[in-house]
Amino acid sequence: MPADPARLLQVIEDDVLPLTERGVAAGNKVFGAALLRKSDLSLVIAGTNDETDNPLLHGEINTLNRFYALPERPPTSELVFLTTHEPCTLCMSAITWAGFDNYYYFYSHEDSRDAFAIPHDLKILKELFGLEPGGYRRTNEFWTAYAIRDLVDAQPEPLRSDLRAQTDRIKSRYAALSEQYQDTKGDNDIPLA
Ligand SMILES: [Zn+2]
Repeated sequence: MPADPARLLQVIEDDVLPLTERGVAAGNKVFGAALLRKSDLSLVIAGTNDETDNPLLHGEINTLNRFYALPERPPTSELVFLTTHEPCTLCMSAITWAGFDNYYYFYSHEDSRDAFAIPHDLKILKELFGLEPGGYRRTNEFWTAYAIRDLVDAQPEPLRSDLRAQTDRIKSRYAALSEQYQDTKGDNDIPLA
């Protein structure tokens, strides 16, 4: 059974976005992630993109690095991988190698291209693997990928409307962050800015 989308949205709003607001102020992209326990959806760790430090430090990778620096940590088989944006091929491979059996994303690859002017995920899928948008296997031997939007749409009313309103609130914060990133990215030396 998929994780409760109400809790996933709450973690994005309360735990990931504050980190990302600081990250974008330092010139980084808007991508963030968090790891939650499957048992009660409590937060283990959250993280955000730090590509100004190292272009491999995508939100997901940075979160995984912070997780593996914890003195004690639960097995990844017991965790939910929450990511604000559908992972790029680097990050979906990292999630695979780390042993997760799931990830949940708020924005799709198409959203990253269209709403954030960041087309690299889709370009890499096409150029390296010959895949069109949506062409990778969201259910496979390793994991299942869930779009949080689909989980929200499957909720009964009035919860569905509440979660859609929360979705809109989160999107408006990301829209402001995206504008801020695009305004400042000329100053960074990230290869795929
Ligand atoms: Zn990535």
